[in-house]
Amino acid sequence: MMRNPRARRYLLRLRPDGTARVTIPRGGSPAMARQFAERHVAWLEREFQRLQTQPPKPAVWEIGTEILLRGDAVRIEAGLNGEDKDIKDEDENEDDAIGEAETVRFGGESVRVPDPAADLRPTIESHLRQLATRKLPPRVLELATRHGLTVRRVTVRSQKSRWGSCSRHGTISLNWRLIQTPAFVSDYICLHELMHLRQMNHSPGFWREMERVCPDYRMAERWLKEHSGLLR
Ligand SMILES: [Zn+2]
Repeated sequence: MMRNPRARRYLLRLRPDGTARVTIPRGGSPAMARQFAERHVAWLEREFQRLQTQPPKPAVWEIGTEILLRGDAVRIEAGLNGEDKDIKDEDENEDDAIGEAETVRFGGESVRVPDPAADLRPTIESHLRQLATRKLPPRVLELATRHGLTVRRVTVRSQKSRWGSCSRHGTISLNWRLIQTPAFVSDYICLHELMHLRQMNHSPGFWREMERVCPDYRMAERWLKEHSGLLR
């Protein structure tokens, strides 16, 4: 509960962390606030359900933010700056020190950021994209070989609404965000696009083939549905 003399009425809000907050207006009382909240329990429950199915995606990434890497929630941590400074001191170019580039770490990765206090998301996302560009295409080729398929080209892109696609000409495009999903999920997407080299549709025959090469595919589909927020 929170008093706000400027509020004209009781306000109920469900915060992203799942706690409810009631605002008490000028002249209001905690008892009335409690009654107000109790009258809107059904609304709260509905909002809570919505929150559960849509994991919040923090708009800004900063030190302490948890992000997904290969399916694990990893925390962005400040790098050991002392260590970095030693390296910098040996550097002849003293101008570098003015920029104060520092390192952040997450899940075994280490990234230089221009300003650790600013939004780290653009820098970290571009690092993740590079990581995906190194890791995903060799994996597709490996899976293609295993299933006797020929891929013409694999590209890693930043699609807004899809995890992957396969063109009639045999080019497979993958979303770099697959580097954030568990291995069984990114393997499923790779296999799904590879299977489109055999049939360009989602017929029952396609799904039968899918199940044969990737028995876990339903679990992977479920994971992607539960984490659809990653794409937005
Ligand atoms: Zn498909």
